[in-house]
Amino acid sequence: MTTELLSRKADFPGMVTADGKPWHYLDTAATAQKPQAVVDAMTRALGRDYATVHRGVYSRSAEMTLGYEAARRRIAAFVGGQEDEIVFTRGATEAINLVAATWGVANLKKGDRILLSTLEHHSNIVPWQMLREKTGVEIDVCPLTEDGRIDIEAASRIVGKRHKLIALAHVSNVLGSKLDVAAAADLARSVDAKLLLDGCQAVPRLKVDVEALGCDFYVFSAHKLYGPTGIGALWAKKDILDAMPPYQGGGSMIDRVTFERTTWADAPTRFEAGTPAITEAIAFAAAADYVDSIGIEAIEAHEERLTAMARDELAKINSLRLYGPEDSAGIISFTLGDIHPHDLGTILDEENVAIRAGHHCAQPLMDHLGVPATARASFALYSDEDDIAALLRGIERTMRIFGS
Ligand code: PMP
Repeated sequence: MTTELLSRKADFPGMVTADGKPWHYLDTAATAQKPQAVVDAMTRALGRDYATVHRGVYSRSAEMTLGYEAARRRIAAFVGGQEDEIVFTRGATEAINLVAATWGVANLKKGDRILLSTLEHHSNIVPWQMLREKTGVEIDVCPLTEDGRIDIEAASRIVGKRHKLIALAHVSNVLGSKLDVAAAADLARSVDAKLLLDGCQAVPRLKVDVEALGCDFYVFSAHKLYGPTGIGALWAKKDILDAMPPYQGGGSMIDRVTFERTTWADAPTRFEAGTPAITEAIAFAAAADYVDSIGIEAIEAHEERLTAMARDELAKINSLRLYGPEDSAGIISFTLGDIHPHDLGTILDEENVAIRAGHHCAQPLMDHLGVPATARASFALYSDEDDIAALLRGIERTMRIFGS
């Protein structure tokens, strides 16, 4: 399987350095490299197929509209939803802001509570704090288990009838820990709260079926799924989406406008004001096609294998501290003695190894771990053993430079 996936490295034009050397890209959790198929789909959509959607009476625009709506169907199918349950957004961040600003404002009031967890990305914290400012809703934080998973048992002791929303990362962008979604969904159901899953790191690595997961909202970004930046999706159950007020006002999201009164288009169009990210939507669908051509299960197995291998090797380094559970999904965070992760990242860059160093937009998690930053290596379908070997060589060199 590895050999088959390895040959896919050639599908990614970005996987070499400017002077043609192999680039050991271990920052996919920040954003994934793009396969040529996605670049080609985007180029075609921006070039010979380009026109606006939803308005033109001429054939090119009608075809582009079909392409844009086909992309919606494609993304819905990719996560097991229906096409009219997918809202295209700028990304996961906008999708969460949309839920907070529409569903949240319409349904939550002072005294209601939201449950988040210690490991959430800022994009699944700050929009709820902004909603707290507007509505007086209160926020509770679910602690983590010793090995860095969201502790649903602890959550069940926190959650009560006043909780209207539980919003959790499906996979942590720092620790790679996978949420026990079934337990989270049971808990949400038991108090009649909605469950929002931040699927940014799960969609590129695990089979996601929103119906089977039992959530109410699911958000993700195309650029982590080998697609373009500037687009992502909110999936929400149709009855919830239908009842949500609009997000932004403008063209396309209306039914009828007069100066006295405006009526809204049906969902999902109601939530897509303005000319949408047409070319990005088409390239997003091409990314889903590409991932399906390999098989998400094969990608998951490949990343699992690489993660286990890397964790085993990293654990042999005395001064290195690993964070997160053994079975983390393709993402490993660590610190190396008292060497700052930024220094490590800079030295690794000289070896053509790209990792992320910092707080990973998860400052509350850094506070919990008692560190200002971690180094993070994350894998993708194009990662291989050579990348791990290069990472280990770079770590050894860094330790030599720092005399540790
Ligand atoms: N949630 C998680 C878990 C993430 O990893 C990220 C991206 N780092 C986001 C949300 C935000 O995604 P975006 O910046 O694409 O909106």
